[in-house]
Formats: sequence, structure tokens, C-alpha cells
Amino acid sequence: MSNPAIDWDSLTFSLTETDKMYISKTGIKAHWQPGDMLPYGNISISPAAGVLNYGQGLFEGMKAYRTEAGRVVLFRPEENARRMQRGADRLKMPPVPESIFIDAIEQVVQENSRWIPPMGKGALYVRPLLNGSGPILGVAPAPEYTFMVYCTPVGPYFKGGMKCIDLLISDEHHRAAPGGSGGVKAIGNYAPGMMPSFKAKDRGFAEVIYLDAEEHHYVEEVGAANFFCLKDGVLYTPELTGTILPGITRDSIIQLARHMGVEVVETKVSHELAMSAQEAFCCGTAAVISPIGSITLGETCAKYGSEPGVLTQKLYDSLTNIQNEVEEDIFGWVHAVPNL
Ligand SMILES: *Cc1c(COP(=O)(O)O)cnc(C)c1O
Repeated sequence: MSNPAIDWDSLTFSLTETDKMYISKTGIKAHWQPGDMLPYGNISISPAAGVLNYGQGLFEGMKAYRTEAGRVVLFRPEENARRMQRGADRLKMPPVPESIFIDAIEQVVQENSRWIPPMGKGALYVRPLLNGSGPILGVAPAPEYTFMVYCTPVGPYFKGGMKCIDLLISDEHHRAAPGGSGGVKAIGNYAPGMMPSFKAKDRGFAEVIYLDAEEHHYVEEVGAANFFCLKDGVLYTPELTGTILPGITRDSIIQLARHMGVEVVETKVSHELAMSAQEAFCCGTAAVISPIGSITLGETCAKYGSEPGVLTQKLYDSLTNIQNEVEEDIFGWVHAVPNL
């Protein structure tokens, strides 16, 4: 099929409908079987579905893109598969085997390949979903589960270089509590962040920084991205205590920085530490790295400058060069999609 009539230069991070989607279903005890590719479109679901009534659902997000080497690649998709398995365990859903997960992703990329933007113009964002699709009235695991994967082309997060963002520390709301579901990509974790995020944006901030729910003192995450700051040559990031989502970008940055000889400390990061740091950034699949220009808490505003810090830029360049196969993939992170 020919390339779609879209202007690759005007792509943003928004939904464009593509050709095909993947669907597989199973009962609570049954084993997952490879699913089917169907035309992209609406699905039919019971009003009593577990996911609609009690939020029994997970999502994942990853990108497929064309590289310098002329291949179409995914970045560490096995990590997405494993994270979804841990989430399934937490939400009492049958985990999708890694082989079925990867196979589904590859098929979705292959069968929508005409939607993969040209090199440098963005990526095909792949969105796997796992949810309790069967009907259930009482609060209990659903009797049927659906694993679905769709995709959409997205533009590069930053056009014409990284831009520093201004953030607001929330003194009123929390994202996750100890023992809860903050450590997995449970769909129910995200709607409660919309109102605080909307209010912060109304005041001119790009996003909210959440502090821990127990002591209201330690930085946890920036909206749906992980946090890093550099102080006196040491790179700090909040340790994974169960309330923080273990980002694949986060893990990759820790490994890359250590490989560069930078000391990386995973610990509790107080707002004082964050606000007295020399560089700060947040990270995730969508933007890879977003440099932070300022952080505001109440009447206090810490400024890091209007340009990305030196280490921030170096980590961004190195990570994106590995992803684009410009730099050698020494960690074995790049996964080529066959037959493309
Ligand atoms: C998805 C997500 C991230 C980033 O994870 P990546 O694997 O790097 O994309 C960070 N925080 C939250 C809350 C998330 O949902």
C-alpha cells in the first residue's frame, strides 16, 4: 500500500488512525494464544466489563522508527513485555507471555509500515493494552481478558532542539501511595493526575512534580515521566520504592551515565536537593529527555537556566544516537523489526 497522504512535518503527539490492530482474548485460567490482525476500528464491549467498572487495565507505550542503518527498530521491547507482566500480576490478570507480546508488536509495526515516518520525522508509537473485558458485577477479576495493540504515527517531541520546561511541585495532590499501584502502568493511575496537571498548565507550567504521599518531601515523578537531577557531579534519581513507575528510559539513562563515568545514586530525592541541583531533567518514551528550566514550590522558584545542561544534552545525544543506530549499540538495546 502507498504512503498515506499526511504531511510528515506537521506530526504531533496525537492520534492518527492507522490500518490494522492486533487483538487476542483469553479466559482467566486459559493460556494466551496468538491473536489476529483486524482492521483498525471501534471495539464492542460489555457495559459490565471489568475494565469499565473497576479499572482492571494496563497500558504500555513504545516507539518504532527508521534508523540511519535503514532498519525499523524498537527500543528494549522485552522490558515493556516484562513490565506489563508485573502489572498483570498486580491487577490479577493473566500475564501475556513475552513471545506473544513481542510478536504482536512486530505484526502491528509490519502491517502498518506505511505509517512509519521517514527517518528523523518522528516514530510509529505503539500502544499495547491489557484489560479485563469480560462482564463482572461484584468487585472481582473479570472472566475474560483482551490484549490489544494499536499504533499511530507521532512527530518528534522537540522540533528544533530540546526546550526547557517549567514545573510546579504539587503541595496538594499525590500520584501514588505505598502499597498501591504506582509502580505499574495501571490505567487508573492517570485520570487523578489530570485535574492537578490542568491547573498547573493554566498557571503556565508544563507539568506537575509529585512528592511522596507519606512525608510530602521527596520527589517522585513529573506527571508521567521520571526525574533526574545533577548536583556536584552526582546524578540523582528517585529510588524505586513501589510508588514510582520503573521507566525504561530511566533505566537506560542510569546505565548510560554510569558507562560515561558519572556517579549515579538512586535514593530519596528531597525537594531541597532537587531545587539546589545544577541540572534537572525528566524522561520517558515520548520525549526521551526533557530538560527542566525551573521548579516552583509555593513562593520559591529554582532556576536551572534556559538551555539544557551539559550532562543532560550529552545523555540525550548518546541515547538518541543509540536509538537511531548512529552510535554503536553496546548494551544490545535496539531490536530490529524483521522484514522491514
Ligand atoms: C510510562 C511512564 C514513565 C516512563 O516510562 P518509559 O518506559 O521510560 O516510557 C514514567 N512515569 C510514569 C508514571 C509512566 O506511566
